[in-house]
Amino acid sequence: MRICIHRGTKQIGGTCIELEARGSRLVLDIGLPLETELSSVDLPPVSGFLKYDPSLLGIFISHPHLDHYGLAQKLQTNPSILIGSAAFKIINAANRFLPNKIIFDNVIEVFNQMPITLGPFTLTPYLVDHSAYDSYGLLVEADGKRLFYSGDFRGHGRKGKLLDRIISSPPDNIDVLLMEGSTLGRFDTDTDYPSESALEEKFCEVFQNTSGMVLVWCSGQNIDRLVTIYRACRHSGRQFVADMYTASILRAIENPKLPIPGWKGFRVYLPWFQKQKIIKQELFEFAKSFKKWRIYPEQLKSEAEKSVVLFRPSMVKDLEKADCLDGAKLIYSLWSGYLKDDRYQPLLGWLNEKNISIIHCHTSGHAPVADLKRFSEAIAPKKLVPIHTFEAARFSELFQNVEQKKDGEWWDV
Ligand SMILES: [Zn+2]
Ligand SMILES: [Zn+2]
Repeated sequence: MRICIHRGTKQIGGTCIELEARGSRLVLDIGLPLETELSSVDLPPVSGFLKYDPSLLGIFISHPHLDHYGLAQKLQTNPSILIGSAAFKIINAANRFLPNKIIFDNVIEVFNQMPITLGPFTLTPYLVDHSAYDSYGLLVEADGKRLFYSGDFRGHGRKGKLLDRIISSPPDNIDVLLMEGSTLGRFDTDTDYPSESALEEKFCEVFQNTSGMVLVWCSGQNIDRLVTIYRACRHSGRQFVADMYTASILRAIENPKLPIPGWKGFRVYLPWFQKQKIIKQELFEFAKSFKKWRIYPEQLKSEAEKSVVLFRPSMVKDLEKADCLDGAKLIYSLWSGYLKDDRYQPLLGWLNEKNISIIHCHTSGHAPVADLKRFSEAIAPKKLVPIHTFEAARFSELFQNVEQKKDGEWWDV
């Protein structure tokens, strides 16, 4: 088996790996690099991306984060896409609201530890804990060799036990481990790795100590975080007000354990920006399906003190118009680095002007070094190759058997 990391040996995001065995090929992830316009980046040079090539057997997508599947929008062919079924549902649900739709119509759904054979490759997905729902690592066997791709993972989320499970019964005889290292260097600013349950307590405290509305700015696809916020709402007697996009993501997953409209205190708000998308695409039946639980702009003021409202910057005008911000606070529940971005400075100015204090309440989607060590020591690969990191050079100080590779270089597993 041969391998080429087209992108990922020296950066976080935009991951794309090509594997070749006996003339057949398989791709792991087809990511859009972070903070990059789709138009400014080309597909990696993989035969079968621009023109049909039967030797390309499929593309495995480890999880529904754009830095792992965003470049699929540029495919000129229709290869098989291997992806978790819930991840597939999330991408479909998000299509209603996102500017660039990604439509997969040739999908092979994958499930935890259920092997799939594709030509010379046997693939075994391992469900992992990450800030994206339905995320997988992958064991690839071909030509008598065994490779493990970690995907993005951590052990301090709501599915943290999955990491302990892999560590206690790891795949054995691994020739090559491709392991992510997002938290090395770049994420040092978020050195704290509280669990989601610890966050729940912090959210609860803020909800109880705020006289007006609580706004929470988080990703509509960070399902662990949404559960954390919903639970904190229940404990503090506030209602959980999700925008229609987020409510539709939760509903699409069809997991009876996840909060959806219809659960106690779950309300749905349709911000102006999302309303325009509904009108443009004539999604009136879809919008109607949330009718029973809607909270309308004119109700926001009178219900402010008992509400936690999921926030996004495009909602500033909605909130201003609804005059519902007396005594409000904003919880920022994303990576702290994004806030330094120029495009958010006007928003920070607006919050300041409205006297809305910002509280940072977040935990990383990625494993800290201690967990990366536990993981790599359990797998004990013959060769550990850094991926999805800005600090590949530091791997050899921290882990055993490290071999750094270059983007675009082919090598034998
Ligand atoms: Zn990633
Ligand atoms: Zn990710």
